[in-house]
Amino acid sequence: MEVIAWGTRGSLPVANPGMVQTGGNTTCYEVRSTCLPPGVHVVVDGGTGFLPFATEALRLKMTELHLFHTHYHHDHTQGVLIAPPIFMQQLGMHIYGTKDRSFGPKQVYERIMEPPFHPVSFGAIAQHICFHSIEIPPTRVILIHPIGGQHILEKERFLHLQTEKKQIPFGHGQAYPLDECLVILMHWTEHPERTITFRFEERSTGSVFVLLTDEEVRAGLPTSLIEFLTGASLLIQDVQYSQEEYERGGKAGFGHGTPEYAVRLARATGIERIGFTHHDPHSADDRVSALVTEGQALLKIGETLELFACKDYDRYEI
Ligand SMILES: [Zn+2]
Ligand SMILES: [Zn+2]
Repeated sequence: MEVIAWGTRGSLPVANPGMVQTGGNTTCYEVRSTCLPPGVHVVVDGGTGFLPFATEALRLKMTELHLFHTHYHHDHTQGVLIAPPIFMQQLGMHIYGTKDRSFGPKQVYERIMEPPFHPVSFGAIAQHICFHSIEIPPTRVILIHPIGGQHILEKERFLHLQTEKKQIPFGHGQAYPLDECLVILMHWTEHPERTITFRFEERSTGSVFVLLTDEEVRAGLPTSLIEFLTGASLLIQDVQYSQEEYERGGKAGFGHGTPEYAVRLARATGIERIGFTHHDPHSADDRVSALVTEGQALLKIGETLELFACKDYDRYEI
């Protein structure tokens, strides 16, 4: 599995000579896997990093796109509105997200593309898009198989088939082994809006990637969150603020994380590799690296946790 960071900035896209190393595109992470059918691309969030993602995916002759939304704040949707895929009627496009205050992904795009906010109306372009509104994400599992394509299952049924070691029925009488699938699991984050964290399991290799963004520091760690994160080969986590900014700078309650929270989660889950993301629009490159140093300073002798700052266009092999 390979993860590509097309956008790592939080809240607002930025361009500044002091931020060149980190980059200024807002959230967009691509997941590449040998479990995907040829021409199929998977991406989480459509911040302004979605534009370079789409440019590269189209250069690679993308025929189908699966876009997973953690939530619908502008820094996670803005790139979709201006990049080519949404206008390409011949492209198979799936957009997934939860329902927040009666807004599923379809209603969100209808609203943010309404005149006078957007030059092209949603109705004129949306025919090629299949929207998946997932009411209670932890109760569903999304599977993608290199031949079978995409399938959504109830989690309970998925767990039953997994325990029984049965093949997964993809419809039309076709069933495929689970260990050939990319399995996508979902859990709530604490933003506190209805926000999803996605876990990608490449069953053919055992590689696991979790993106935990727009997650507020939690005082206690719920068992369900620990279970959801455990086993991740790579966790990319929202670390927008330092402990000082969070505790004394008025940033508590803004829905974002700190290095201390990342280290605490690593200790609770056994995760050994964490990339910091959702960099503050005010954070120049030195501030971003200082957050990594702050996290490393918390490690005890013998702890081998690898911490790093995600940067636009970086690629992580898992
Ligand atoms: Zn955000
Ligand atoms: Zn947000």
